[in-house]
Amino acid sequence: MAKITAIRGMNDNLPAQTPRWQYLESTLARILNSYNYQEIRFPILERTELFKRSIGEVTDIVEKEMYTFDDRNGESLTLRPEGTACCVRACEEHGLLYNQTQRLWYMGPMFRYERPQKGRLRQFHQLGVESFGMAGPDIDAEVILVSARFWRELGVSEHLTLQLNTIGTSENRREYGQALLAYLLPLKDQLDGDSQRRLGSNPLRILDSKDPQTQALLENAPALHDFISDESMQHFKQLCAMLDACGQSYVINQRLVRGLDYYCHTVFEWVTDQLGAQGTVCAGGRYDGLVEQLGGRSTPAVGFAMGIERATLLLETLDAYPATVDAQPDIFVMAPDDKSGIELISLVEAIRNGLPNVQCVACCGGGSFKSQMKRADKSGARFAVIAGQRELDQGCVVVKSMRDASIEQRTVKKTELLETLQALLAD
Ligand code: ATP
Ligand code: MG
Repeated sequence: MAKITAIRGMNDNLPAQTPRWQYLESTLARILNSYNYQEIRFPILERTELFKRSIGEVTDIVEKEMYTFDDRNGESLTLRPEGTACCVRACEEHGLLYNQTQRLWYMGPMFRYERPQKGRLRQFHQLGVESFGMAGPDIDAEVILVSARFWRELGVSEHLTLQLNTIGTSENRREYGQALLAYLLPLKDQLDGDSQRRLGSNPLRILDSKDPQTQALLENAPALHDFISDESMQHFKQLCAMLDACGQSYVINQRLVRGLDYYCHTVFEWVTDQLGAQGTVCAGGRYDGLVEQLGGRSTPAVGFAMGIERATLLLETLDAYPATVDAQPDIFVMAPDDKSGIELISLVEAIRNGLPNVQCVACCGGGSFKSQMKRADKSGARFAVIAGQRELDQGCVVVKSMRDASIEQRTVKKTELLETLQALLAD
């Protein structure tokens, strides 16, 4: 019978890879904790309406990328394509935004029906950071500096550029959209297909086009910043001054508009040249209108989402994982003459009770002395504890170094085993 395979664009994360993900996730969580951001968890499935109303009907995600299906009761549900809308929904539902500020983060799978390629999957993972209730540029700066610290701690900052822009208010964008439309209409035939479609629905999104010919045509287009209100420009300048004061470099990119409808004022992306076309590792901005749009009270908000797969690819490409990330077990325990298995399992448990921080592997499944030694070697453990019958009869076990020939093999009393192992592992 033919074997059942995984769904295209939905990857398994195999044991060789998971320590790297754990390293990344724990590093990010530690930094977020130091900024006093709190983790929030919400479901993977939400009502379709939530995403239509937040992300915007005329966006790639809602138009063609959502995994939407009818529940058994006929209600339309969608596998979350991003986390911000879900986060706002959960906060509103539980009154977290009422007369208070929030600094939140989440991490988990997102789903988009896209063409799978390097750094672009159908199930991918995001780390999201969202802050609510703070309107000034200081929190924009904080959120950006959190992401900057990620790259520094992970040792990859040199290969990432912070792109920054302001897209002003919805009024500013409407006026700019009209000017852009007037400029692009006569050039319609030279635009890529998607951009031609966007002319009628959402001309600003054309700035985001990856098509080189469209990008070339945009060279002489009206400049977005000429349409930004004084207040919004002031916010942006203050943000830039804060980043300058913290030594955080950035590039202002007036074409950066982001692909989701809810953004206003500040938008930013972290971009690398190391991953080919999928070079945006992290993206975010301010979304002051979203909470109200979803039925809550007007609440200022700013956040970002980082693509975990792209981050792991970047670390892989730059060989930036610390050597300790693929750590091997400390101790391999075998009792080659013990047919009952009782001696082995109780010895291993005793070691674990006494040395809870030590990684200990039991040689389950029996086998000859030779095959057990082979397994000890393959495990990569630093030390083997060998409980042969001859030693056990005298209340002893053998401790053997598996990697360092200069450490002599020794026979120790069972009562002194923990102490011996502790001393050996501390070296
Ligand atoms: P792109 O322009 O690459 O399609 P996007 O603007 O759709 O990205 P966002 O919705 O802002 O992306 O998501 C934030 C981050 O999540 C992206 O910068 C990227 O790192 C990651 N991401 C988005 N879509 C995917 C995907 N299909 N596969 C893997 N990572 C993704
Ligand atoms: Mg996309």
